Amino acid sequence: MVGSISVPEDRRFEALVSPTAELERLHTGCGWAEGPVWSDADGGFLLFSDIYNHVMLRWSEAGGIEVFRADSNFSNGNTRDREGRLISCEHGSRHVVLTEADGRRVVIADRYQGRRLNSPNDVVVRSDGTIWFTDPTYGIISPLEGYPAASEQPGHWVYRVGTDREVRPVATDFVQPNGLAFSCDERTLYVADSGFSHDPTAPHHVRAFDVEDDGSLARSRVFADIAPGVPDGLRVDEDDRVWISAGDGVHCYAPDGVRLGRILVPETVANLCFGGADGHTLFLTATTSLYRVRVATRGTVPRPH
Ligand code: MG
Repeated sequence: MVGSISVPEDRRFEALVSPTAELERLHTGCGWAEGPVWSDADGGFLLFSDIYNHVMLRWSEAGGIEVFRADSNFSNGNTRDREGRLISCEHGSRHVVLTEADGRRVVIADRYQGRRLNSPNDVVVRSDGTIWFTDPTYGIISPLEGYPAASEQPGHWVYRVGTDREVRPVATDFVQPNGLAFSCDERTLYVADSGFSHDPTAPHHVRAFDVEDDGSLARSRVFADIAPGVPDGLRVDEDDRVWISAGDGVHCYAPDGVRLGRILVPETVANLCFGGADGHTLFLTATTSLYRVRVATRGTVPRPH
């Protein structure tokens, strides 16, 4: 790109993303890149989804790009549990699935009250072992992202899967819930509503909730309005800043809701994650491409209390 990709709007951002930081394109040719997740295993590697081509790709410094899973069931968001096992949202199967170390698939969530989920979009694990995911309809309204079908659920909800494996709704008033992440103390949950993508009257914001001791959500408030575009994936860093995907790149917010700055990206960013050998690389899945940029922070380190 011409000019700096780092756009500070607060002096605190200048120390986070250097004015001379470079956006490096690691791969291109995807249909819709999503769901990046880092692993420190095997020398370090990134997995991400190419939803339109229903494939999961693996990138590493040593090996470059390889196919990780040739038939991904239109996988979208990915995360890892406390043991490092991969958990994926699949539009095709309409499941949230855990992959055991030996490759065995374990379905984490497929139904609520006997009816199929819409199309799980993104997922995060809390350090108490509960698994939280969003269930908008993107994977059942477009043949590019899954298999078109009618919704069987009364809404587009956010769910929590308990350690007892029971699936419970925790938020039922979203238009299209999307990316989600916990604060470092796991007492705040951030959830994107990307409803604006298909309805100009719908939200394009990220909401914050208090997480109560019983796992319910309370005190819903709008944390950030995102424009241009919509918020999709988001991540929290080690100092509780919230990094949110947007139409023009990534927007970084302080925990008090002040926007600190932006990273400009020449394609719409769908999701992001921290990783790399020292944790200071921000990986961005952006439409057709995978990018990386160096940042002076790392991903959240859960500090539950
Ligand atoms: Mg998403």
